[in-house]
Amino acid sequence: MMSSKPHAALLSSPGLGHLIPVLELGKRLVTHHNFQVTVLVIASHTSPAESQVIESAMSPKLFDIVQLPPPDISSLVDAKTTTVSLLSIMMREVRPAFRSSISAMKSHPTILIADLFGTEFFPIADELQMLKYVYIASNAWFLAMFLYSPILDKEVEGEYEDQKEPFIIPGCRSLRPHEVFDAMLDRNNQQYHELIRMGIEIPLSDGILLNTWEDLEPTTLAALRDESLLGQVAKVPIYTVGPLRRSIGSTSSTSQLFEWLDKQPNESVIYVSFGSGGSLSHEQTIELAWGLELSQQKFIWVVRPPATNGADAAFFTVGSGENDVSEYLPEGFLNRTYKLGIVVPMWAPQVDILSHDSVGGFLSHCGWNSTIESITSAVPMIAWPLYAEQRMNATLLNEEFGVAVRSKVLPTKEVVGREEIETVVRKIMEDNPEGNVIRARVKQLKCDAEKALSEGGSSNNQLSQVAKHCEIHMQRMKVKD
Ligand code: UDP
Repeated sequence: MMSSKPHAALLSSPGLGHLIPVLELGKRLVTHHNFQVTVLVIASHTSPAESQVIESAMSPKLFDIVQLPPPDISSLVDAKTTTVSLLSIMMREVRPAFRSSISAMKSHPTILIADLFGTEFFPIADELQMLKYVYIASNAWFLAMFLYSPILDKEVEGEYEDQKEPFIIPGCRSLRPHEVFDAMLDRNNQQYHELIRMGIEIPLSDGILLNTWEDLEPTTLAALRDESLLGQVAKVPIYTVGPLRRSIGSTSSTSQLFEWLDKQPNESVIYVSFGSGGSLSHEQTIELAWGLELSQQKFIWVVRPPATNGADAAFFTVGSGENDVSEYLPEGFLNRTYKLGIVVPMWAPQVDILSHDSVGGFLSHCGWNSTIESITSAVPMIAWPLYAEQRMNATLLNEEFGVAVRSKVLPTKEVVGREEIETVVRKIMEDNPEGNVIRARVKQLKCDAEKALSEGGSSNNQLSQVAKHCEIHMQRMKVKD
């Protein structure tokens, strides 16, 4: 049965960086566009951080969350299976449970909005007479790279990183070999083929939603919509609906951390965190600790045990397990810096921290959620990309948006030394010409972002168009009935 409201089924792949923007889109659809929403996620019982995120998204309860039982994929993976393959396999195997769940819903969903890993659910949406949209919770340049990757796959010989020239993407910023999405770097790995498949499947949707806004990436968005440029491969309408991010207040502001923050001067604290999955090597952790100490700037640092198996080691397990930070920080660090900063093991209330007036800088791995949380809090960044599309994001932040500084060496290729860390921290935290320009720029972007989401703003209008598409689809279905 169809209700009078459009009902959106939002599908999130595992991982907090994927779930958070899907939950935010769900909220926005309910509060601003009169949708009924059901969010479908693969249940995970390993991450307290995930339970926390879901809990806070449900108060107040704006929509239903369906936790699909995790599929048994033990015979399909081994210790060498990489993150993108693992996510693709999990999603593929959960399709029957998803299908049953949608079929059993009292109010039949009008539209499926799946994230990047959900393009293989489109045939189910077709079968169940739902519109099918893909939500790329990232930027337009990332989408451009993705849509163009099947063409690059045919044109480029050998590994991407070994090429000498940047890759030309029609109408967009060229992509330098070292910026290529890390899961594409080994073309013999299964995950490379999964990504190319997604690049082919995205244009099979009825529309693409992006968590960006028009003023942030006008040139790339124009190219994506231009038939003579990338419009040829995108094929479907592209809607910018961002910046969608969690609101402030998901944690109690009376906690020790916020009591400490309340006492610090305006914009005097640097927040250091590497997203839901990022970890550093032991050597890099030591250098970062020394860099922070040498800079003598106030800090909040979300610390994880050093990575032993890749920079995205914490992706599936963040927030779990014991974690004695003194085991891997330099000897005496905690004693020497107890007045200077706070070390938070594993997970911190990031949005609340970034929104606090005392925070004036963010050393970040440049995940897209972290990026927009920083911009919308007017906090300048130190770009420290680790995995996924973060090297692209770092380039945008530093060279295109002008809201970040970065180290001379790529953190995943070389260890960034303590003196260089001290220099970049001072650059964004202290009064100096470069830092001042960056601070002014991020404040401007924050204003633009607010405009995009306001009544009559571009992102608000574009999501209204999606709502209209759903209404037309509902009318058509009624006529058929
Ligand atoms: N996050 C948080 N506390 C932490 C680390 C991360 O709340 O200690 C949140 C952060 O605010 C963001 C998300 O986790 O919303 C991470 O997403 P992002 O896209 O930045 O990176 P990913 O984890 O996908 O690499």
